Amino acid sequence: MSESTKYVLDEDRMPRDWYNLAADLPVPLPPPLHPATGQGIGPDDLAPIFPMAVIAQEVSTERWIEIPEPVRDVYRLWRPSPLVRARRLERALDTPAKIYFKYEGVSPAGSHKPNTSVPQAFYNKEEGVRRLTTETGAGQWGSSLAFAGSLFGLEVEVFMVKISYHQKPYRRALMETYGATCIASPSDMTESGRAILAKFPDSTGSLGIAISEAVERAVQRDDTKYALGSVLNHVLLHQTIIGEEAMEQMAMAGDEPDVVIGCTGGGSNFAGLAFPYIREKLKGKTVRIVAVEPASCPTLTKGVYAYDFGDTGHLTPLVKMHTLGSTFMPPGFHAGGLRYHGMAPMVSHVKELGLIEARAYPQTTCFEAAVTFARNEGIVPAPESSHAVRAAVDEALRCKAEGRAETILFNLSGHGHFDMQAYTDYFAGKLQDVPYDEAALRAAMADLPTVAAE
Ligand SMILES: *Cc1c(COP(=O)(O)O)cnc(C)c1O
Repeated sequence: MSESTKYVLDEDRMPRDWYNLAADLPVPLPPPLHPATGQGIGPDDLAPIFPMAVIAQEVSTERWIEIPEPVRDVYRLWRPSPLVRARRLERALDTPAKIYFKYEGVSPAGSHKPNTSVPQAFYNKEEGVRRLTTETGAGQWGSSLAFAGSLFGLEVEVFMVKISYHQKPYRRALMETYGATCIASPSDMTESGRAILAKFPDSTGSLGIAISEAVERAVQRDDTKYALGSVLNHVLLHQTIIGEEAMEQMAMAGDEPDVVIGCTGGGSNFAGLAFPYIREKLKGKTVRIVAVEPASCPTLTKGVYAYDFGDTGHLTPLVKMHTLGSTFMPPGFHAGGLRYHGMAPMVSHVKELGLIEARAYPQTTCFEAAVTFARNEGIVPAPESSHAVRAAVDEALRCKAEGRAETILFNLSGHGHFDMQAYTDYFAGKLQDVPYDEAALRAAMADLPTVAAE
């Protein structure tokens, strides 16, 4: 058995293909539906907002999809990312469990998100697109797309949720460093934004509103398309390079995980690590797969599985997913990347099929685990990633109580260097576990669209 701390793949062993779970699903994914007609949608419906290559990936059932060489070339700036055995954390917890984490914070933007922003920028550039629009919550996705746009010579326009725009000036500065334009949302640049401002002049924004604004801008201009950082099948596909690398690295370590863990906002970093393991699980391998979400926005554990809109302005197709309702506004908490009302259809589907488990944690207990992690492993986790850290620590403590030497693998989706205010608040005792508003949740769920096809 290896005594190493880090398992590092050479660049020439970086995976050549992304893995598409749609090829192996025992039950196919329910199709997306047109928001106006409730009928199935085709490539033409998506063409105004996405390039054809991305649309093809969205509906593909091919098992392996080749990573284009120019994308691999950019990936080499930080990939393969390291797999680390958290030996010091194991000792601190006095657990017989082995804890491994895949570290995605080594990317230029500090999270897993460039794994998809780079191919999305590449495919758009190939099809002659000149400008990309998108939304961003805490700024991770906006900065990842800004980075990718700068490498492929695309203009990038980012609608940033207003509260984060004011609270996280450094992320805005990062986007501007990469040459992108950052606009506080809701803005008066779009009809969706103006409609919200007319009703709620003091709106601090939401991801759902920012998506509506970005989509609207993309539809208006031929040279402009939209890029989404999570939720959709093609995004999850691009993230599977995480799990494919992890499998090779676990083999280098001479270990196999009994438990695989990821935090879930829209579901992409979780899917990236977990889907290759679900493939093996479908072939008969025994492995538990755990999605971890915030208790304040508990999509998988408290949402309903139903067709819903992806955005507040109801411009996107209807997709079947675990949802809290597209008008649900989660309370403010620090893991901005986990504040989405829905969950990736593919992640929702595997939850329904019983292939994964889900659990929810309040934020303070996540920060507590993140601080323990930082004091032993050195890396300060992003507030989002701290949910996965909490679950990994809890699994390790369970192993200790049961006297079992299980192997735990989790995804550390990003570092928290731009989120230190959250840690400052935590140390000052200012962080609270804000429950969501039950009445508002019931109202949002009552607003779910009725879909004839169901
Ligand atoms: C955006 C983000 C997330 C949540 O998004 P997913 O699509 O669920 O992965 C998690 N961790 C970090 C560091 C992020 O930036």
